[in-house]
Amino acid sequence: MSALSDALARVPPSVRRGEPTVWTNPHRRPAGEVMDGLEVSTADVSEARRLWARAAPLLARLFPELEATAGRIDSALVPVSPTIAAQLGTGATVLVKTDHALPVTGCIKARGGIFEVLWYAFEVARSLGFDGDDTAVLANAEWQARFADFTVLVGSTGNLGFSVGLAARALGFAAEVHMSADAKLWKKDRLRRLGVRVVEHEGDYTTAVAAARAEAASTPRSHFVDDESSRHLFVGYAAAADDLAQQLREAGIVVDAAHPMQVYLPCGVGGAPGGVTLGLKQVWGDAVRCVFVEPVQSPSMLVQLAAGPGNPISVYDAGLTNDTVADGLACASASALSARIMAPLLEGVSTVSDAAMLAWVRRLWTDNGMRLEPSAAAAFEACAMAAGAARSEQVATHLIWTTGGALLPDDVFASLLQ
Ligand SMILES: *Cc1c(COP(=O)(O)O)cnc(C)c1O
Repeated sequence: MSALSDALARVPPSVRRGEPTVWTNPHRRPAGEVMDGLEVSTADVSEARRLWARAAPLLARLFPELEATAGRIDSALVPVSPTIAAQLGTGATVLVKTDHALPVTGCIKARGGIFEVLWYAFEVARSLGFDGDDTAVLANAEWQARFADFTVLVGSTGNLGFSVGLAARALGFAAEVHMSADAKLWKKDRLRRLGVRVVEHEGDYTTAVAAARAEAASTPRSHFVDDESSRHLFVGYAAAADDLAQQLREAGIVVDAAHPMQVYLPCGVGGAPGGVTLGLKQVWGDAVRCVFVEPVQSPSMLVQLAAGPGNPISVYDAGLTNDTVADGLACASASALSARIMAPLLEGVSTVSDAAMLAWVRRLWTDNGMRLEPSAAAAFEACAMAAGAARSEQVATHLIWTTGGALLPDDVFASLLQ
C-alpha cells in the first residue's frame, strides 16, 4: 500500500462518508509526560501574556470600546439557558465562553490576529528606537505615519483577515488580505471599508494563504501572518486560558481530577483551538479534556491526526469536499504546527453536519438570545453528541467555546435563520 492509502485506512469510514462522528484521538498521552517536551512552552505563553499587558494602554486608545476593561480583550463566561441545557441532554454544568461577542472583532481571531499585529508593531517600533511601556503613544499621528511604510499581509476565509486588517489599519500599517473565492462578499466589503487591500483568488483557503505568503516574500518591510504555522497566533490564543481560570474561580467552579471539564472548540486550520487547548492543558493538565469540532466535509484536523501528525493529508485526499456553511471552519488542510502539538494533548474530534449547525444557530437565538455564526454553533452539537456518549457521566463541566457571530450583519444573520 502507498503511504497515502495507509494513512487513509486510519480515518474511520463514517468520516470518509461525511457522517457525524465522535473520534477519539489515539495519540493522546498523560499531560504530565508531554507538556515539557512541546515546541511551544509555558514560558512562551507567559511571554504572550506580558505582551498583552504591555499593549493594553495602546489597545484602550485605539479601540474606545476597550476603555472599560483598560485595554483587555476578553469575553464573559455565562451559563446556558435551562431550555438549551435540556436540549443538550446533560445534567452537568454547561458554560459558554462567549468569544462570539469578543470586543473589537466579535470573534476568537481577536486573540490571535490582533496579538500578532501588536507583536509586529512592537518589533517595528523597537527597530525605530521605541522600547517603552507607555505604549499608548504608538497611537499618535507621528507613529501612524511611520507604520504606514510597513505592510501586514494575511490569507483568510474572513475572520482572521478582519481581525488582522482592523488592527493593522488602526495602527496605520498598510494591510493586504488574500481571500478565497468562497469568502463571503460582505466580509470583503467590510475589509475594503477599513482601507484594506483585498485580493481575491480562485480556489480555497489554502490557495489564498499560499498566495499571501508569496506576495509577502516580494514586499519590502512587510510581515506575513501565517495562519498555517504562526507561533505568535498560537501563543496569543493560548493566553486566553489564564482569563478563563480566573472566571471559573470567581464562579466557584472547581476543575480537578474528580471534576473534569470538557471543552468544545470549533476548528478550522487549528491555530485558535490549538492555542487555547495548549493554554488550558498548561493550567489544568488531564483535568481538562479538549474536543475539536469540525464540519463533516472539512475535518482537516481529524484526518491529519488520524493519519499521523507527520503525514500531510487533506480532506480532499479522504474523498471529502470541504464544502460547508461554516466558512470559519472551511479548511482542507490542518496547520502542521497545531497538529504536532495537539497529537499528544487532544481528547478527540467530533464532526457535525451543516443542518445541525444551522438548527443550533436558530435555537440559540430563539432560546438563549445568542447571535452565533454556524462555525460557533457547531460546538453545541458536539456537546450534545458527547452528552450521549461513554465517559460523559464523569464530566462535571461542559464548556462550549463560541467563536464568532456577534458582528454578523442583520441581513446575513436573518438568512441563516431561514
Ligand atoms: C477561525 C475560526 C475558527 C477556527 O480557528 P482556526 O484557527 O482556523 O482553527 C472557529 N470559529 C470561527 C468563527 C472562526 O472565525
